[in-house]
Amino acid sequence: MKTYNIAVLSGDGIGEEVINEALKVLYSLPKEFNLEFKRYAVGGAGVDRFGDPLPKETLDGAKNSDAILFGAIGGKKWDSLEKHLRPEYGLLKLRKELGLYANVRPIKIYNALLDYSHLKRKTIEGSDFVIVRELTSGIYFGEPRAKFDNRAYNTMVYTKDEIKQIAIYAFNLAMQRKKKVCCVDKANVLETSVLWREVVSEVSKDYNEVELSFLYVDNASMQIIVNPTQFDVILTENLFGDILSDEASVIGGSIGLLASASIGDKNALFEPIHGSAPDIAGQNIANPLATIISAAMMLEHLGEFKASSSINAAIEAVLNDGYRTKDLDNNSFCSCSKMGDLVASYVTKV
Ligand code: NAD
Repeated sequence: MKTYNIAVLSGDGIGEEVINEALKVLYSLPKEFNLEFKRYAVGGAGVDRFGDPLPKETLDGAKNSDAILFGAIGGKKWDSLEKHLRPEYGLLKLRKELGLYANVRPIKIYNALLDYSHLKRKTIEGSDFVIVRELTSGIYFGEPRAKFDNRAYNTMVYTKDEIKQIAIYAFNLAMQRKKKVCCVDKANVLETSVLWREVVSEVSKDYNEVELSFLYVDNASMQIIVNPTQFDVILTENLFGDILSDEASVIGGSIGLLASASIGDKNALFEPIHGSAPDIAGQNIANPLATIISAAMMLEHLGEFKASSSINAAIEAVLNDGYRTKDLDNNSFCSCSKMGDLVASYVTKV
């Protein structure tokens, strides 16, 4: 039987709670392959245990895994530490060290939740798009960067090769979907965006079947809310993608439903898009579905399509049967662990 080594990095805040539910669901799958889980500290938990938000043991474990399942990092406790000791630095370093250049964030609406969105049903019905965000370059990594008392600066840098790599990923993905790529940038103001347009246009020449369009990020942020069904694959740089995907989470009803995959040439990491949610941590009320969906994406990446589909079907069935976590229904809700129990039990039924 095939065995996969999974590095489990739960992190901080609700990270541990939502990861435990994802593991519960993975354990409940029929035994058609083995998953061997190894847990590692990351973020604030890494700082507390090893004085490092990305301890060497964690980086090595992640590098040597078949896939990484990640919870969330961050919290007030570590906010005032020096930059290299902050939890966020650990995650950025992990993405960079593993070369996880493509962050893939599917935006999907569950029929059962059409009336749970802040947006009107008629606006969101049929929305199904993917944000492909460049993850290892741009302003989050650019040098020089510095903060002084009265002045601070960051640098947005992109090379042609970096843009080409993520553009090829987005076009290949579009070929398996509705064959549309919308490149989101700020080419009316930023030189990096002008280069993005040049390179993306060049790459598009190899994909005649894919319709390419461009939108300025300010317009895109409006279009995602006003007319989300127009999109198939949104291709964008690191900072814009970070912001737009949180915005897009409104369409589905909660940030607790949005999963992501971060793909590199050798490694792949799967995580919910939300953070450690310190405001609800430790209360067993977080929505674990984003992490469970991330686990399903991980299985798909590993080629275990049947198991992945059964998790997705189980989630759909649980939602169809009316179960909600507190982020979706403040009056009548089940706990984080109950939602995990439900999906785990439905997996064996669907
Ligand atoms: P957040 O995503 O943690 O929370 C934003 C809001 O969404 C909060 O009200 C929270 O309660 C709610 N929320 C988030 N996930 C939820 C879930 N699964 N179920 C129900 N409600 C949920 O963002 P934030 O408050 O801006 O950041 C908190 C910490 O997380 C910070 O330290 C930040 O740096 C960190 N962060 C980490 C990641 C990551 O690990 N990838 C991503 C974003 C933020």
